[in-house]
Amino acid sequence: MPPFERVLAEVDRAADEIVSFTADLVRIPTVNPPGEEYEACAHFLGDHLERRAFAVEYIAAEGRAEHTARHPRVNVVGSRRGGPGPVVHLNGHIDVVPPGDGWTVDPFAGLVRDGKIYGRGVCDMKAGIAAAVFAAEAIARAGVTLPGTVEISGTVDEESGGFAGVAYLAEAGRIAAGRTDFVIIPEPLNVDRICIGHRGVYWFEVTARGRIGHGSMPFLGISAIDGMGRLLESVRDVLMPALASRRTAVPVVPEAARTATININGIVGGQPVDGIQTPCVADLCRAVFDRRFLIEEGFEAARQEIAELVARVAVEAGGVRFDVRELMVVHPTRTPDDSPVIASLDRSIRRVLGRPPALIASPGTYDHKHVARIAGVPHCVAYGPGELEQAHQPDEYCGIDDLVNATKVLALATLDLMGAGR
Ligand SMILES: [Zn+2]
Repeated sequence: MPPFERVLAEVDRAADEIVSFTADLVRIPTVNPPGEEYEACAHFLGDHLERRAFAVEYIAAEGRAEHTARHPRVNVVGSRRGGPGPVVHLNGHIDVVPPGDGWTVDPFAGLVRDGKIYGRGVCDMKAGIAAAVFAAEAIARAGVTLPGTVEISGTVDEESGGFAGVAYLAEAGRIAAGRTDFVIIPEPLNVDRICIGHRGVYWFEVTARGRIGHGSMPFLGISAIDGMGRLLESVRDVLMPALASRRTAVPVVPEAARTATININGIVGGQPVDGIQTPCVADLCRAVFDRRFLIEEGFEAARQEIAELVARVAVEAGGVRFDVRELMVVHPTRTPDDSPVIASLDRSIRRVLGRPPALIASPGTYDHKHVARIAGVPHCVAYGPGELEQAHQPDEYCGIDDLVNATKVLALATLDLMGAGR
């Protein structure tokens, strides 16, 4: 049997193991926030890799404020060296979002029923981690010589920005240009789609300051809430239509996210409404905005546009003063069209599924940004099992067929990227 056929056969043979490994990962409730059980999960994954001849390192995010004794931020990286060929790094985040309400099954039981595995984080993205592990395992079991090095990492905090996770590994040089050739992140983006990047993020807080006065004589104060109201009107009537008219050439899904957008994450002003009230004009109001910008817009233009909008409103706002404070900036990323990682996955998906993949981009962001921006590795995409729409939902599941197919694709793409003969 040719090598690639043997690898595919080994994945099929391992199907039950892949399912039970995924279910075991789900049973470790790595809920973020606050970051529960990271160390246990990192060691569960690390122990498994060690038994499969990987050299395993644990990298704690020393120096980061969120790395505490109660909630240590521990990442795990395994590497198995073959020949001198390229280094293919498969990265998955071990954290999951809180279960929330509406579940009809136990979110951490790892229930398997009717061809699906259920649980919080099974789709986003513990099934993806299992697929990475068994992709490497199937290559080994098939007796195929590894022309390069395969690395598998489990990292923390992707759901909260990934600063103690992939960003930390990149800053430490563990994922780096010159050391890491290709990165595949098995996020759940559907088994026949390759994700080549995401839009940019500009989170900012606007503080409106007025002047306190007696609530019975509001004309003697300056209401910061009223000033913020004017700003919100401008955002809705002026900014939102302008943003909606800008479309990116990047294939962002869903279709409606292909334009620039803005969301108001939260607002607070005046006195706390659930306490005792005194009659005062509100002298302070704050709101947090989430602006998603396009690669064609660029960050500077997006920032400038907000500054100008706020300045215009301030002129009409009757003495209310505004400050804009930057909270987070994520630059857009896009894998180069001619990247080998796209070509290898394309070939592998056609071979396993018998149809061509779609290239898409994410409406949000994921750890791709750290690989591209900090590590400086351009050849990074997301590809993995599970449906995007399942992420963060109650009764989250991953289909076993998807899981097995994605494992096959990852195995073939890993070999293909290393230049293995088919
Ligand atoms: Zn994810």
